[in-house]
Amino acid sequence: MLAGIVKCAVCGSRMGAVTKVKDGRLWVYYVCAKLQKLGAAARRGSRVRAGDLENGVMEQLRALADKPDSNPLRAAIQQFVFIADALATEEQ
Ligand SMILES: [Zn+2]
Repeated sequence: MLAGIVKCAVCGSRMGAVTKVKDGRLWVYYVCAKLQKLGAAARRGSRVRAGDLENGVMEQLRALADKPDSNPLRAAIQQFVFIADALATEEQ
């Protein structure tokens, strides 16, 4: 969802999505583009679980959507939050 949009907190490079199967579960992470090239030289803070990051973004969007005024961007965000909530409900 956020691949190519989020930036690494360590070096500022764009982050891409990578998947990994661990304990029979599929995990999705956002990883710093620079880190992906360096491979084993992983640095703290340049990899984040997709779910954690996306939940954080959704919290911020919800907080924005709840503010009462007629900003068109806010209306768009409210629509996005509504759709995202509907999708999340379907997944459960
Ligand atoms: Zn980085």
